[in-house]
Amino acid sequence: MTKSIFAPSYYQATATPSPAYPPLAGEISADVCIVGAGYTGLSAAVELAEAGHRVVVLESETVGHGASGRNGGQICTGFSSGQDKIAAQLGRDDARKCFAIAEDSKRLLVDRIDRYKIDCDLRWGYLHVLPKPGRMDGLREWKDEWDALGYTDTQILDTAALEEKLGTRHYHGALREGGAGHFHPLNYCLGLARAATEAGAAIHEHSPAIEVDTSSKPFVRTAHGKVNARFVIIACNAYLGRLVPQLYGKVLPVTSYIIATEPLGENRARALIRDGEAVADTNFIVDYFRLTPDTRMLFGGKASYTTREPAHLAPEMKASMVKIFPQLRDAKVDFAWGGYIAITHNRIPDCGRLSPTAYYAHGYSGQGVALAGMYGKLMADAVRGTAERFDLLSRVRHLPFPGGPVRVPLLAAAMMYYRLKDALS
Ligand SMILES: Cc1cc2nc3c(=O)[nH]c(=O)nc-3n(C[C@H](O)[C@H](O)[C@H](O)COP(=O)(O)OP(=O)(O)OC[C@H]3O[C@@H](n4cnc5c(N)ncnc54)[C@H](O)[C@@H]3O)c2cc1C
Repeated sequence: MTKSIFAPSYYQATATPSPAYPPLAGEISADVCIVGAGYTGLSAAVELAEAGHRVVVLESETVGHGASGRNGGQICTGFSSGQDKIAAQLGRDDARKCFAIAEDSKRLLVDRIDRYKIDCDLRWGYLHVLPKPGRMDGLREWKDEWDALGYTDTQILDTAALEEKLGTRHYHGALREGGAGHFHPLNYCLGLARAATEAGAAIHEHSPAIEVDTSSKPFVRTAHGKVNARFVIIACNAYLGRLVPQLYGKVLPVTSYIIATEPLGENRARALIRDGEAVADTNFIVDYFRLTPDTRMLFGGKASYTTREPAHLAPEMKASMVKIFPQLRDAKVDFAWGGYIAITHNRIPDCGRLSPTAYYAHGYSGQGVALAGMYGKLMADAVRGTAERFDLLSRVRHLPFPGGPVRVPLLAAAMMYYRLKDALS
């Protein structure tokens, strides 16, 4: 396990004050027991508690400890896999329905921010930037695909137009989206937790589930308590480990790292990203960055399939950032942290039923800020008897990742392959 997943983040330093939720003690009953207090679990909790169900959420650490409190905060469109892989499995019409679900996931996020008055610095605008010249055709195809799906709030920017927006000559054009953006991920997560508890859900932090029973009388056990429920929802994503043997190998934890510089001041920050949009490159191993409201550069990337951490995380991340923005050579790095992304083989999220009483969703493959909330909602809908959208998404088939001693070397080799591909293509 890497240290950086516990390292204090910029988000924790700027978190909305929130209550501590007590650990589970003793045996209790609920309609639904949810394991994991990230976007997936808390989204399900909000829906179910508002519908009058007795909901208990168990979290091994604290709310937002996982990817939901530590991510890049980039609100993305569609699926990490792209549409073709989904269409290859489900057909064009159903793939189109999946895209509509992904679009709805952004709307759901915005609705919740409004409805629960979650203060989380939401901002629109997103640039997908080309790290290599001569690839504009790829961006045009991407735009055409989205146009055909009815998502038209996009523009192609050539190199000159992009250089007006970004203070770097590192990139060679971009696809700009108006319907994607960024926010403070932890404050959104804490806001969801507040909404869930106000609707009647009970959250228990420092309460790792150690046994999950998915029989007709399901239960979840912790070291000091037990929740007997009618339904169980597994929402642990990359942090699940071997808790549920059927799910081990379905997703792979990949570490991604982020740094935040010291505040740069308004002028210096605007000279880097003029309009404050989120930025991500089009490589397989993505660099992503954006400004914070207090004018820091928040720079992420360096995904690793092994859980071995870079020896000097902050300087290595800073070196990647300075390659793009040499003007940040002197900027101090105030925070450096990491978190686990859950990827699937085909980069399409994986969801389904372990039994008639147990649901799971995970594997958003680096693009779960909006999607995880939707998958959580769809599990809640399924518990309540409306499973059409959940069943559609759960029709996607997934290959397992290898287990045992070959796992890490094989995945490290895969990562080297993708780095080489990014460098050469
Ligand atoms: C560094 C980083 C950057 C990212 N950037 C982006 C981005 O910019 N845009 C984007 O769309 N996506 C991004 N992602 C991915 C996104 O954050 C995730 O897809 C999303 O947060 C998943 O939410 P979740 O609720 O499913 O999982 P998580 O937020 O990981 O929550 C799972 C929770 O389960 C808990 N848990 C695990 N085991 C147990 C147990 N036994 N008992 C109780 N609780 C347990 C964990 O402690 C954790 O809190 C990023 C991820 C990382 C790590």
